[in-house]
This record gives sequence, structure tokens and C-alpha cells, in this order.
Amino acid sequence: MCGIVGYIGKKDIDNILLEGLKRLEYRGYDSAGIAVVNNGKINATKAVGRITELEKKITGDVGATVGISHTRWATHGEPTENNAHPHLSNDGKLALVHNGIIENYQEIKGRLLLSGHKFISETDTEVLAHLIGEKYKGNLLEAVQAALVEVRGSYGIAVVHADEPNRLVAARMGSPLIFGVGEREYFVASDVSAFLGHTNKVIYLNDGDIVDITDDSYKIYDIEQNLI
Ligand code: GLU
Repeated sequence: MCGIVGYIGKKDIDNILLEGLKRLEYRGYDSAGIAVVNNGKINATKAVGRITELEKKITGDVGATVGISHTRWATHGEPTENNAHPHLSNDGKLALVHNGIIENYQEIKGRLLLSGHKFISETDTEVLAHLIGEKYKGNLLEAVQAALVEVRGSYGIAVVHADEPNRLVAARMGSPLIFGVGEREYFVASDVSAFLGHTNKVIYLNDGDIVDITDDSYKIYDIEQNLI
């Protein structure tokens, strides 16, 4: 299990995410990646090896409104670019980063394959991205909630969708996830050190919590899907 950093706000998203990932580097990782929502599209970049390799490939996402990033410690599939996160949904409009292990991914993958989904990685994580994408009917929170009830295993996840450029949804179960509240900006991370330079208003999410963040507000739901 390695690192997650997500950001919604007005600052330079690539910078915030890369800086956050670098603060998590001490935990070790084999590959890294980033995805932002920009101009109605997901723009994802991944690299095997150091974060500096990822940094070299990023072309600059002026106008991006929300982003997620990841350092991977492979559990399912070799450390390759295709297996690196973020993973996308079948239609390419949803991006997800994940720490942990989806135990029943093979079962879910089998069903998705039968309904025509195409996978590019060997990871358990890509299955979760496709599952949430399949549930998506215009509301990212509802799609995440609907998918997670079908999932067994451990996860810290952060998810964005191209059709909702001012929204970031994150959830945890058995894997750490921290939520940071700034001045009209919000952070999620697997470790508080990723964003401490920006805010010290920190909320430690509990297992089963889902946080639904927009550019100017947030709501946290517990495992029973009740608003906290
Ligand atoms: N199980 C996932 C994978 O192998 C996530 C690994 C991680 O926590 O970095 O891609």
C-alpha cells in the first residue's frame, strides 16, 4: 500500500499533486501516476520508477479543476505503465487511484468482461474503476456508493469524473485516508504529510466513510451511508 494525493482548488493542480507525492516517497513505490479533469476530459499520465520520471512526462494542465495521483506498490500485476494508477473506466471518463487489495476482483471482472468491458491492466484496481463507471448515471457519489457495496477487501480510493469537473469522491476501508480542508480548497491523502504545508485542518476518515467534495463544500457519509 502506497500513496494517494487528491486536490480540488484553484492552485496549480499538477504542482500540488507532485509535491504531495514527493512527501510520500519515503514509503517506497514502483510507479506513479496522475489524472486531472480538464476541459471535459480525463488527462492521465503514468510512469514506472521515480516521481521525477512522471514529472518529466507531465505537459502542464492549465485549466484543470480537480486531480488525483498515486504512488503504487504492486500487489496484482508487475510494475508496468499499464498497471500503474490512475485507472480509467471502460468509457475513459472516470479515473481512480487505489491503495489496498480488492479481494473479489476476479468475480467482478468476469461479469464485466461478459458485458463487453476491455481491460488494459492485470490489477484488481482497474476492475473497481470499471465497476464504478458501470454504475455511473450522472452522480459520482451514488456510483461510488453503489459499487463499494459489491466490493470485498481493503481500499483507500479517490475518484474523479470528466462530466463533473468540480467533484472529487474518496472512500476508505482498512487503508488510511485523510481529508484536509483549506480556504476554498480540499485535499485527500493516504498520509497527512502530503498536504500539511497547505492546511492543518485535518479530518481522519473512519473505515466505511465516503467524502463527497465539491469546489466549495463537502459532505462525509458513514458506512451506513448516513450523513455525518
Ligand atoms: N492492489 C493495487 C495494485 O496492485 C494497489 C497497490 C497499492 O496499494 O499501491 O495496483
